[in-house]
Amino acid sequence: MLDSVKGFGLTFSTMFRKVFTEKYPEVMKPTAPRYHGRHVLNRHPDGLEKCVGCELCAWACPADAIYVEGADNTEEARFSPGERYGSVYQINYLRCIFCGLCIEACPTRALTMSNEYELADDNRQDLIFTKEQLLAPLLPGMEAPPHPMRLGDSEHAYYVDVADRTSTGSVDAPGRAVPTSAVAQAGVPVNRSADPEAFATGDRGATR
Ligand code: SF4
Ligand code: SF4
Repeated sequence: MLDSVKGFGLTFSTMFRKVFTEKYPEVMKPTAPRYHGRHVLNRHPDGLEKCVGCELCAWACPADAIYVEGADNTEEARFSPGERYGSVYQINYLRCIFCGLCIEACPTRALTMSNEYELADDNRQDLIFTKEQLLAPLLPGMEAPPHPMRLGDSEHAYYVDVADRTSTGSVDAPGRAVPTSAVAQAGVPVNRSADPEAFATGDRGATR
């Protein structure tokens, strides 16, 4: 009897408290700037993929959520600077615990995490994200691989003299503007703003 009275009392007192109902999904709840959300496979400023298919992310993953198959680039079909690229890349979001160990292991900063957290679904298949889903979108000045290296004759141009390369025009397409490295990182939106309203309205800053 006493327990029932306590229960009703709790219900009654709650009726006078401030309502915390979120207006989701119309208004997105802002995350912390370093929130670990959906992964992004980033691109170089000319559109080539940063992933070199080394599988270090897969080996670092404690949940065995990443599957990678590397393949050789050829002069006819180049997807990344250097020798190798990730031909198959999958992340299983039924397994992922969003620990971030994979992005720490990645030697080229190909793999980063966005603030995107809408990852619920009602079937297994749709929660295994493919490379096509994870790749950062092509920004103005980028070109969809395969294509030759635009930033220099060797892969070193992609990892050194970063300041210089931003002013370098495309070799094979001189009219094409190469975006700055900061812009080139802007894949899936990430909350870099302290302003929750900006995040809620879709202005969420740039990808890490
Ligand atoms: S965030 Fe953690 S669990 Fe998820 S894929 Fe990366 S290493 Fe694996
Ligand atoms: S995302 Fe990074 S660690 Fe994973 S295969 Fe590609 S280059 Fe290697």
